[in-house]
Amino acid sequence: MGIVEKTQKKGTSKKETREIVIKKERCKGCNFCVEYCPRDVLEVSEEFNEKGYHPPKIVNSDQCLFCGLCERICPDFAIYIKNNETEPEKEEKPISETTHGLFNIVKSKYEGEFFMQGDIACAEGAIYAGCRFFGGYPITPATEIAERMAKRLPFLDGVFIQFEDEIASMAGILGASWAGAKSMTATSGPGISLMNENIGLGMMTETPCVVVNVQRGSPSTGLPTSWGQADMMQAKWGSHGDYGSITLCPKSPQEFFDLTIVAFNYSEKYRLPVFILTDAIVGHMIEKVIIPPPDKLEIINRKYTKKRPQDYLPYEAESNLIPDFAKAGDGYHYYVTGLTHDERGYPIMTEEVQKENVTRLVEKINTYSDDIIILEERDIDKADIVVIAYGITSRTVIPAIEKAKKKGIKVGYLRLITIWPFPEKRINEIARNIKGFVVVEMNLGQIVLEVERCAAPYTSTKLVPHAGGGIHNIDDIVKAIEELAHEKK
Ligand code: SF4
Ligand code: SF4
Repeated sequence: MGIVEKTQKKGTSKKETREIVIKKERCKGCNFCVEYCPRDVLEVSEEFNEKGYHPPKIVNSDQCLFCGLCERICPDFAIYIKNNETEPEKEEKPISETTHGLFNIVKSKYEGEFFMQGDIACAEGAIYAGCRFFGGYPITPATEIAERMAKRLPFLDGVFIQFEDEIASMAGILGASWAGAKSMTATSGPGISLMNENIGLGMMTETPCVVVNVQRGSPSTGLPTSWGQADMMQAKWGSHGDYGSITLCPKSPQEFFDLTIVAFNYSEKYRLPVFILTDAIVGHMIEKVIIPPPDKLEIINRKYTKKRPQDYLPYEAESNLIPDFAKAGDGYHYYVTGLTHDERGYPIMTEEVQKENVTRLVEKINTYSDDIIILEERDIDKADIVVIAYGITSRTVIPAIEKAKKKGIKVGYLRLITIWPFPEKRINEIARNIKGFVVVEMNLGQIVLEVERCAAPYTSTKLVPHAGGGIHNIDDIVKAIEELAHEKK
């Protein structure tokens, strides 16, 4: 037992006391409570419990806010706040809620210019977009997103849950979304592989949520603290079956903030899990991030049905191909299943229903691809060669393009901010007027296959690969540009 705070109970003469209780024998010594306490109230003790772990101890009792973060974050229910009611003690004055003044600081929205890490900017973008549920499991290099959400959400009437693994985390954010919350998870490498079954469930059940993949060197455990861009195809084809994917790829902390908001908007508008695919460099990079005043940026919320409960069919998509939502607890009858289902959501195992179901999952994204695709283009009209890149690699190619221009080559730049749906129309248009595409990516050839598909038969495509863990050599990119520029058709 520790710290005791007393307050007057509203409407009665009774007092309430609150105290921090530490069940030492349950503790597994993870130190989450110590690390996340915003007031450094706790410290790791030198004492051993029965399991051989060091439980926390209270060291700054007067600093405790009774915020409850330690209780929420403890995976073993080994620390909690106990509320007791006591009779009034005449001599004692009621203690006001003075310590709660700090809540105003913690609650206030961030706004202005910051020097901010990419992962933190992502978390702030999610909060700005209205995300109030985060489910995840820490993994480098995405952990800072979870840490930030763990610190911020409890003060915003939100919920942070660290699940037992990534499978449960993905399931958790789907459930939260059906309960009406904007929800998100963030992971990397092995984590995204584990999530893929439930990502498919999210696609099939058309559940709005955001999945962030801060890519690291792979496959398997790969390079946990280093980077790569080798999950590009996984964001489209990772889970089994056909479905449309929306995947956005930021190149900087500012864009990580901005595109997280866009990802939430797309997920709410088109009803599906939306991916943000970045990498460890962008995730850990610290740069200027401008957070605009609240509500300055467009925030889209899912469309709830206006129908009466008796008229509502949860998967009835009208001509726009996107069914209206109904929230759990609002009196609407709905059935959410990963099985092939009809408009009622009921499992129907027929060829016709399967065709209708799956075709709509793909078509609802294809139909709106012009609205979803975001590209950055420079000097394409006058170019002979166009360099295509995305994410962190799009920054590496800039000096290479400048160097090639100095050699007299007309080079354009196309940055894929939306990866999926793939901008096939635009690439096909450009292909008709240039000599070739140079695709620079930190994998051994993934997006280049899509470029080749869209560019053929009009022009050639050349890959500049990199296996990850470092960045491209500028001269390798220049060499590829030169080779293509001088290639005889
Ligand atoms: S209630 Fe909050 S301030 Fe108090 S020990 Fe727990 S985390 Fe720290
Ligand atoms: S979070 Fe729970 S299990 Fe971890 S050190 Fe604190 S009390 Fe122990």
